[in-house]
Amino acid sequence: MILILYPQTDLEGAEFRRLEEHLRNLSGISYRVHRVRGAQQTLTEIYLLGDTSSLMPEDMQDLPCVERAVKVSEDYRIIGRHRDDQRIHAFEYNGVEFSQDNLHVFAGLCAVDTPEHVEQMMRALQSHGQVCARMGAYKPRTSPYAFQGHGKDCLPYVFELAGKYGIKVIAMEVTHEDQVDEIEAALEQTGRPTGVMLQIGTRNTQNFELLKQIGRRSEFPALLKRGFGITLEESLNAAEYLASEGNSRIVFALRGMKTNMGDPHRNFVDFAHVPVVKRLTRLPVCIDPSHSVGSRAGAPDRLLDVMHVTAQGVIAGANMILVDFHPNPSQALVDGPQALRLDELSWFLDDVAIAREAYERRRERAARHAAE
Ligand code: PEP
Ligand code: MN
Repeated sequence: MILILYPQTDLEGAEFRRLEEHLRNLSGISYRVHRVRGAQQTLTEIYLLGDTSSLMPEDMQDLPCVERAVKVSEDYRIIGRHRDDQRIHAFEYNGVEFSQDNLHVFAGLCAVDTPEHVEQMMRALQSHGQVCARMGAYKPRTSPYAFQGHGKDCLPYVFELAGKYGIKVIAMEVTHEDQVDEIEAALEQTGRPTGVMLQIGTRNTQNFELLKQIGRRSEFPALLKRGFGITLEESLNAAEYLASEGNSRIVFALRGMKTNMGDPHRNFVDFAHVPVVKRLTRLPVCIDPSHSVGSRAGAPDRLLDVMHVTAQGVIAGANMILVDFHPNPSQALVDGPQALRLDELSWFLDDVAIAREAYERRRERAARHAAE
């Protein structure tokens, strides 16, 4: 059961202490206090754990500070959509709102290589009205001999250039909690010119200790990639790990599944699950067309497969696109073959806008049908 407290409840106040005293006396039930930072306000929720079957929502609603009590039966207590659920579905980070209703493009370098390439990328994004980017500093690689990313050395110039070109949120993968400290230190050192969304890669989706650690770093939002060889349910449980440790500012990313049934694409594109994730959870859903397709192959209609699958995800309601671009893909140190070029950014964004408009029209048509 979840107790949703009145907005602005004072956790130091006498009313809240009375509530806690009552909860402590419930036998066989423990509780956890959870702060949910939404776009407009911060809400407090209390998760009751253990055998709550004998508790009645009507009774719990009479307790001090409690606005509503919601019974949850599903596995995803925090990220899930529950019946009668009117909790906040959007979150804000560094002035950018993320929700299941809007769409942001995070185009950029799979791996940071030179300050010049970072600057060219950021400049192009700004000139196309973009405020988000992807920049990989810590790269998990299949081979120990492959380029592992510049790590903390590149962070100061990446953050400064982001600030210079008005980029507010950078998606950046981390594979260890120490890297979060390095990111935090570099942001502090550079005067916080931008923000970072911590990306958990597909290889780490079930690295439970990392999930718990990132879950405790709730000052940063998290982008969780779906595990490429596990079920959707298992990946959603990974997102619940983050939330259960206190970080519920999560975006869930689809990036294709590893199977040769998807050949010749690098991974089997799974964007049909965009609406499924939106139905099962409150999380905004990201698609990563670059790691799904893995090449610049195109169709006879002149559209690249990366653009086709992006449009498929967007027309199904995706909320974020993580896509590899590079000023000179042949010089890229990681994943050059799948990167789009800067002269394709305008075309790509137009294609996204066409698909988004089609999605919005489809949504309106569905609403009219429901009202008929
Ligand atoms: C990436 O986005 O750079 C990446 C490594 O993705 P994934 O974890 O999906 O392979
Ligand atoms: Mn990559």
